[in-house]
Amino acid sequence: MHGMSDFDEEFDFVVVGSGGGSMCAALYLRARGKSVLILEKTDLVGGTTARSGGVMWIPDNPFMRRDGVADSYEKAATYLDSVAGGQHDAPAASEVRRHTYLTQAPQMVQFLVDQGIRLTRVSYWPDYYDDRPGGSSEGRTVVAELFNVNELGPWKDKLRPSFLTVPAMLEEAMALPDFRRSWKSRGLMLKVAGRAIAALLTGKRFVSAGAALQGRMLQAALRAGVDIRTDSPGVELIVEDGAAVGITTLRDGQPWRVRARLGVLVNAGGFSHNQRMRDTYQPGTSSAWSNATPGDTGEMIEEMMRHGAAVAQMEEMVGYQTTLAPGSEQDDIKPSAQRMTAAPHAILVDQSGVRYMNEGGSYMAYCKGMLLRDKTVPAVPSWAIFDSQYIDKYMLAGTMPGRKKPQRWYDEGYLRRSDSVAGLAREIGVDPAALVGTVARFNGFVANNADEDFHRGERSYDRWLGDRFHKPSETLGSIDTGPYYAVPVLPGDVGTYGGVLTDEHARVVREDGSVIKGLYATGISTASVMGRTYPGAGSSIGPSFTWGYVAAQHAVNNSGDA
Ligand SMILES: Cc1cc2nc3c(=O)[nH]c(=O)nc-3n(C[C@H](O)[C@H](O)[C@H](O)COP(=O)(O)OP(=O)(O)OC[C@H]3O[C@@H](n4cnc5c(N)ncnc54)[C@H](O)[C@@H]3O)c2cc1C
Repeated sequence: MHGMSDFDEEFDFVVVGSGGGSMCAALYLRARGKSVLILEKTDLVGGTTARSGGVMWIPDNPFMRRDGVADSYEKAATYLDSVAGGQHDAPAASEVRRHTYLTQAPQMVQFLVDQGIRLTRVSYWPDYYDDRPGGSSEGRTVVAELFNVNELGPWKDKLRPSFLTVPAMLEEAMALPDFRRSWKSRGLMLKVAGRAIAALLTGKRFVSAGAALQGRMLQAALRAGVDIRTDSPGVELIVEDGAAVGITTLRDGQPWRVRARLGVLVNAGGFSHNQRMRDTYQPGTSSAWSNATPGDTGEMIEEMMRHGAAVAQMEEMVGYQTTLAPGSEQDDIKPSAQRMTAAPHAILVDQSGVRYMNEGGSYMAYCKGMLLRDKTVPAVPSWAIFDSQYIDKYMLAGTMPGRKKPQRWYDEGYLRRSDSVAGLAREIGVDPAALVGTVARFNGFVANNADEDFHRGERSYDRWLGDRFHKPSETLGSIDTGPYYAVPVLPGDVGTYGGVLTDEHARVVREDGSVIKGLYATGISTASVMGRTYPGAGSSIGPSFTWGYVAAQHAVNNSGDA
C-alpha cells in the first residue's frame, strides 16, 4: 500500500476536465461536506459545454410542470425506448441506464435549482423524433438564464465564451434573423439592444447559452469552496489493486500526485480534435470540420483504456452539418448548415445529383446519413441546391439574406450559380438529367405538400427547423426561380459521442463487466445513454450533468467499497 507520503496533495474527490458534469458533481459533494478538486487542462473553464447552446434534454422537468406541459416518466421512457431501445450494439443505452437517466435527470435539475442556479426552459423546441410514441412536440429542454459574467470577479476572464455573443436567450436569438418579416422579431431586437445598452451603463456583461450555464455553475462551485485549477491536465490515473485512488497532474511543469479518497470522475470530453482516433473509429470524418473546443483530444479515454476500461459506440459523433465558406476554415465555430436544406426552396443531393434523406432530421441523423450514403455514392461533400427565393429570404453560411455574397465565394468555387438547373448541374459536375429530375420530383412533392420519398415536414421538428412564415408548408418550397445555386455541405460535428462504458452508477466498466473501483466518467468521455441516436436538443449536456450527479451520489454513499 502506498502511504499518504506518496501523494503531493489529497482531496475527497477529483474531477478531470471542467465539462458539464464536473461542477454539478462538485456541488453535490460540497453539499455533503466533501472536498473537491477540478483539474482543467486548458486556460479556460467550461469546456465545449460553455461554448454550446447550453441546452439539457430533461424529460418531465420542473419547468414543464411550471408551464403546464404534460410529461411523465412513463411517456419519456416510451419515447427513449422507441428511439434508443433495442440497439444491441449500444451497451451504454441499456434499459437500466435509460431508467436511471430518466429518474435522475429531473432530480439533478431540482438539486441545481435548490443550489440557486437559475434555470428555465425553451418554450417550444420539439423532440427530434416527436412523431414517435412518447415524443414531445413542445420539447424537454432546460437552459440557464442570462448571466452577468462580471459577478465572477477575478474568474470572469477564465470562463470559456459561448458561440452566441449577443446578450440574448437562445430562444430570442433564434427569432432575431426574422426581423425583416416579423414585428415580433423587430420588437425582440429592440429589447436585446436595450438590454445591451443598459448592461453597458450599469457595468454588466451578460453571457448566454452554454456560457450562462457554466458561468452560473462556476459561480456556485467557487462559492461552495470547490478548488478549480486551469492549465492543469490530468495525465495518469493512479491505480492501486485495480482501484483508482488518484491522478497525476502537472504543477509548474512537474508531475503532481493527487489522492482522491472517494474517487476520480473523468469529464474530459471526447476526441473530436484527435485525427488519429478519428481515423481509427470514424474514418472519413475530420477534426477540421468540428466545432468542439480545442481540449477535445481524447487522451483521458485512452488513459482509461490503458487501465482496462471497455469502450463502446466509438463510431458515433454528434454530427452537425457545416458549409465551409472561404475564410471560415480556421474559425472556432464553423458556418452552420443546420437549417439550410430544411428551409423551403432547398434540398440536399449527393454527387450524382440525387436526393437521399429527409433534410429536416436531427443534425446527428443528417451527418450519419451523409456518411452512410458515401459508402455507396460519393456524398462527402454533398450539395445544397437552392434557388433565388431561398437566397433572398434566408441566411447562407453566416451571411444575411440577399444575393450579394463575397466575390471570393464565386472565385474560389464555393458558391456555384447558373440560370438553369441543368446549368447548375454542369457547374457541380453532375449529370444534368439527374439533377433536373431530382428537382422536378421535389417540386411535385411541394405542389402536393407531401414529400413521398422522405416525409420531410411530417414531424413538428422538421417544421420547426423550417420557416414558420412559409405556407402551407414551413419546410417544403419550390425550387423554380433562377438563378439557381449550390454550396458544398460536410458532415461536421459538435463532439464525439462514444467513449468508455459506464454502468448505472457512472462507474467505468471493464470488458468483462466488472467495474474499475473509484473510477467514474461522464459526458462525451463515455458512450452515450442515448445509444446511436439524438432524441432531442440537449442530449449531450443533459447526460453529462446527470451522470456527474449520479457519480457524486455513488461516491459519497458507497465510500466503503469505492
Ligand atoms: C456551438 C455548439 C452548440 C452546442 N449546443 C449544444 C446544446 O445546446 N446541448 C447539448 O446537449 N449539446 C450541445 N453541443 C454539444 C455539447 O456542447 C458537447 O457535446 C458537450 O458540451 C460535451 O460536454 P462534456 O461535459 O462531455 O465535455 P466538455 O464540456 O467539452 O468539457 C471537457 C473539458 O475537459 C477538458 N480536458 C480534456 N482533456 C483533459 C485532461 N487530460 N485533463 C484535464 N482537462 C481535460 C477540456 O479542455 C474541456 O474543458 C453543442 C456544441 C457546440 C460546439
